[in-house]
Amino acid sequence: MRYAIWNDFLSVDVEAVERPRDEAEVCALVARARRQGKHLRPVGAGHSFNDLSLCEDLLVDLSELDKILSVDPETLRVRVQAGIPLKALVVALEQLGLALANVGAWLEQTIAGVLSTATHGTTGRYQNTLIDSLRSLRLVDGTGEPRVLEGDALKQLTLGYFGVITEVTLVCVPLFRVRQRKRVIDGAEAIAGMDALRGEHDFVDLRWTGTLPQMIVGGWDITEEPATRLDRLARGVEGVRIGALNRLLTVVRAGAIPKGLRRRFFSALGRAYIRSGRGFAHEAVWYEGLTFNSFGVAAPHEEREFAVPRERAADCLLAARARMMADREASSLEIQVRFSPAVDVALAPNAGRETVWFNINVLDPRGNPALVDALSSVALEHGARPHWAKVIPADTPSMVELYGESMLVWEAARRRFDPDGLFLNDFYHRHIALTQRSLPEWAERE
Ligand SMILES: Cc1cc2nc3c(=O)[nH]c(=O)nc-3n(C[C@H](O)[C@H](O)[C@H](O)COP(=O)(O)OP(=O)(O)OC[C@H]3O[C@@H](n4cnc5c(N)ncnc54)[C@H](O)[C@@H]3O)c2cc1C
Repeated sequence: MRYAIWNDFLSVDVEAVERPRDEAEVCALVARARRQGKHLRPVGAGHSFNDLSLCEDLLVDLSELDKILSVDPETLRVRVQAGIPLKALVVALEQLGLALANVGAWLEQTIAGVLSTATHGTTGRYQNTLIDSLRSLRLVDGTGEPRVLEGDALKQLTLGYFGVITEVTLVCVPLFRVRQRKRVIDGAEAIAGMDALRGEHDFVDLRWTGTLPQMIVGGWDITEEPATRLDRLARGVEGVRIGALNRLLTVVRAGAIPKGLRRRFFSALGRAYIRSGRGFAHEAVWYEGLTFNSFGVAAPHEEREFAVPRERAADCLLAARARMMADREASSLEIQVRFSPAVDVALAPNAGRETVWFNINVLDPRGNPALVDALSSVALEHGARPHWAKVIPADTPSMVELYGESMLVWEAARRRFDPDGLFLNDFYHRHIALTQRSLPEWAERE
């Protein structure tokens, strides 16, 4: 049976994809795989850019577990099944006057999927993150037993290696709306002013493309005002414009255009994107305002993303921008920069340090692999940790180097949850691979 992740980016031939209808069925699947000596991986919406979620034996797809189980209006806690897609959850919460603490750029993913990889959106004056809003997890461990994780037990990113999550409890925030204002300014000025921008707006991001000197600075502020007809019109115009650019990219498969023409095509598209980047200021409900507004049309692309420590971020972005401006092959790259506070979750790329996310959207993967590698190296040289669910470059230092002692504590916890290594896969062996190593006693104790 073939299972493919987002946009057919990767696929595997797998023995079976099971869709359990309740936790008891999950327990039975894990117990069966364990008896048969098979591997098993939990999958969400498959919205990743690598094989983190994959194995060739058994995939457990949680799409049948997609209900909201309870909402407590006093504590704002919501308990949901693991496979609920964000796009369904945010709409249901809106009806209840609630919002998730934060969200990434898309809403296709499942709640368990985004919490497993510390998926992030952006921040500014507003500092809440989704991973910090997690209050408890229910999962079936590698022995087939259900467990509840709360408090300190949630301080490890699970990455699908601790068990199959069946339920999560999150604390929400009251529903809010945002007013979006975009500007197109000189890139060096935007980078130099990043800290000030984060103090000016509740949410901030920067975007640039190719060799163009300007950037789009997006700022979103929480507002009480209801949206007007003009706001809806402005949002519609923006969605149609970005959706059309993405549809054009989808239709004109990059590989089908000769090289010289391809560069010109992407340069023209990039110029149109930046020139019209200011758009019209408008207001929207939080999840519409803060996600990629293209009416669901996404061009096929690859992503690499790096969590750069805030203190080194300006140097990193200036170096990356200079590298791009000197290379015409940069025309098919779009960069997005976002911001997160430090979190206390081992193996989250922004664990323990304020982070500036440097995301490379690669629209023509065959066009400029050397440049994409060079930009990745710039990020890694500035102390970055890669996003777990995006393309991880070959020259990434070992995860022990990147995460230090917390990697060993994470591994000790993983072994307690999955003593037989039922959830291990190629990704683990390639990027983590501590299985053969005995761990220090202090790591076992923590
Ligand atoms: C177009 C696109 C845009 C994206 N935008 C952003 C963004 O803005 N910010 C950002 O940070 N990331 C972003 N991502 C990455 C994405 O959010 C993560 O890869 C996320 O983990 C995907 O969730 P999913 O439900 O699709 O899970 P999958 O991709 O299916 O799985 C991801 C991981 O979660 C584990 N998992 C899934 N379900 C369970 C479960 N029930 N129990 C235990 N483990 C489970 C899997 O084993 C795997 O390790 C984007 C990805 C795409 C394709």
